[in-house]
Amino acid sequence: MDIRRSSIFEELIKLGSLCSGKLSERYIPCGKKNCRCKDSENPQLHGPYYTWVRYIDGKQINRTLCPGPELDAVKAGIENYVRFQALIGDLLRLDEESVASAARAEGKKNSRKIYRRH
Ligand SMILES: [Zn+2]
Repeated sequence: MDIRRSSIFEELIKLGSLCSGKLSERYIPCGKKNCRCKDSENPQLHGPYYTWVRYIDGKQINRTLCPGPELDAVKAGIENYVRFQALIGDLLRLDEESVASAARAEGKKNSRKIYRRH
């Protein structure tokens, strides 16, 4: 196997869990009167609140996550999925290149055979 191809597969195997979608970070006001988030001079909004937004079969799935291990795992999963897609892209370009050049070489061989026959 091509060295570049096998190194892509090695990295794919080592990748951790994958998560699709995006994380949004929000700071929001609450419903209480006279709260720090309502200060007219220096409003201090509450948060951060995290929403994990992803799509399953075209349907948007939102999930609120609190800072902690679950949020960290989803963040890492999203980073892994970005890397996964980049690696698949590299693999695809590499394979398409070799498939095309193999087809060209085969084409030359066949045209030589045809040439010899005539
Ligand atoms: Zn508030």
